Amino acid sequence: MKSHDHLFKVLIVGDVTVGKTSLVQRYANNTFSKNYKSTVGVDFALKVLQWSASETVRLQLWDIAGQERFTSMTRLYYREAAACVIMFDVTNKASFLNSQKWKEDLDNKVVLSNGTPVPCILLANKCDLSPWAVTKEEIDLFSKENMFIGWTETSVKENRNINESMNVLVAKMMDNGEGVAALSGNGDYINLQLVPTPGYGCC
Ligand code: GDP
Ligand code: MG
Repeated sequence: MKSHDHLFKVLIVGDVTVGKTSLVQRYANNTFSKNYKSTVGVDFALKVLQWSASETVRLQLWDIAGQERFTSMTRLYYREAAACVIMFDVTNKASFLNSQKWKEDLDNKVVLSNGTPVPCILLANKCDLSPWAVTKEEIDLFSKENMFIGWTETSVKENRNINESMNVLVAKMMDNGEGVAALSGNGDYINLQLVPTPGYGCC
């Protein structure tokens, strides 16, 4: 069988301390630590998924490390992105509201080669903490109004919904229409029970 290699650039965007670097470390290296040094510039990590018997997916994860104070990123950063993760911290209302700025910046700076917006998922991180500063109804409305493909709650700390939500993005990039009713892309809450996982797990 002929094997296919796919390489995708995926951006991880959001305010400082929402958990971006933690997400990348958790997802790519399966580690979690209380303290990551704030670097200046961009950090990269590579995640390799055996998506199917014949398809390998390589995700080049771009973590905006240290650039969060700029509400606007350079075009170079966004260039040729295939997908984007916008994260906020459920206990930090400002980080939720700023997700709109990050989304606008993304859509103003890059589109896919076919002219459509870069698929972007909204992650409500630190769901292990309480109280939340934002309701699920607010997030749902916000996700639809701002044309996210969908949103879900995550806890990088407890490794909750991390692989699952990233699989939603990968499926979107692979344009895998099969059995992905949960992926209608209209901003809805993503019920991860309904999302198929790749048959070959990850490596
Ligand atoms: P970044 O600035 O967006 O890269 O955020 P970091 O990844 O550096 O995380 C900031 C802080 O939030 C660190 O102390 C992390 O340990 C913590 N953190 C990240 N994800 C979670 C989570 O899901 N739950 C909790 N409770 N803390 C988290
Ligand atoms: Mg960071």
